Amino acid sequence: MDLYDVIAEASLAGEELTNEQAMAVLDCPDDELLPLLNAAYKVRKHFYGNKVKLNMIINTKSGLCPENCGYCAQSIVSRAPIERYSMMKKDEIVAGAARAAELNAGTYCIVASGRGPANRELDIVVEAVKEIKDKHEGMTVCACLGILKPGQAERLKEAGVDRYNHNINTSSSYHENITTSHTYDDRVNTVETAKASGISPCSGVIIGMKESKEDVIDMARSLKVLDADSIPVNFLHAVDGTPLEGTDELNPRYCLKVLCLFRFINPTKEIRISGGREVNLRSLQPLGLYPANSIFIGDYLTTEGQEGPKDWKMLEDMGFEVDLEPLNREIANALT
Ligand code: SF4
Repeated sequence: MDLYDVIAEASLAGEELTNEQAMAVLDCPDDELLPLLNAAYKVRKHFYGNKVKLNMIINTKSGLCPENCGYCAQSIVSRAPIERYSMMKKDEIVAGAARAAELNAGTYCIVASGRGPANRELDIVVEAVKEIKDKHEGMTVCACLGILKPGQAERLKEAGVDRYNHNINTSSSYHENITTSHTYDDRVNTVETAKASGISPCSGVIIGMKESKEDVIDMARSLKVLDADSIPVNFLHAVDGTPLEGTDELNPRYCLKVLCLFRFINPTKEIRISGGREVNLRSLQPLGLYPANSIFIGDYLTTEGQEGPKDWKMLEDMGFEVDLEPLNREIANALT
């Protein structure tokens, strides 16, 4: 058995990867990429077969955010020429769910910029979610509204929100290089708050913000400890006008190695290739589906994604199928 098969076996057996094994994944020589992907695919296939989850985002409030996240075009410190608007009306959010259904997206992600939702913004989301749940049976609804105040998670749960996303974004020790307006612990606490209210936790990362490989390993391990059911892995698409403008550290092969690492460390979880997929994985996008089992379809928050039909075609070409099953939490709980 080669090194990557040994790692896959350890992952399937629920064992922790050693630091050496984790680093060997990120340091995989390019000419060993296919054996690495094959090993990660064994783990992904064991838990998810040939299914791919599709997720669609709606940005219900854009820009106008007082926080200073260095990667974000919506921050007050960004000069990026994005569209800025306050919270959409309920009907617009409900209409987005119909679009998600058309795209075959099993999960509809309702996202809003800002540190956290004001109660009047939460009211709109709550009413929209109730209507969406009535109209689209089986659709998973994810909310991503920032730091939650006491009582807000419970209101979302009651309305029918299945999942709450709040990314850790980077490692705890690197976090202050990315933002100083809130702490890493603020982010972790919000994930824990969502979890405590019975909502499935989603939390992920952004790779390519000049962090070290040790930071990347730390992120994957932290999300395992947080028990995030869904893990979006974003690859930085540095937008002009943001503090990280011009940052271009990634190549498609390294992105694939990162996805393999997240699969090995979080074998049972939904690993989603997220923002920056098209610009960073480029022609190697399909290979990302060997370690990952989930993608976004449609546009991202402030950048355009590949058109839906191209993503469907990519899945079909690879022999994968769209996964419309509701949440994977039951599977994950049964296996961990
Ligand atoms: S990531 Fe969220 S909290 Fe940070 S600046 Fe952007 S919208 Fe605001």
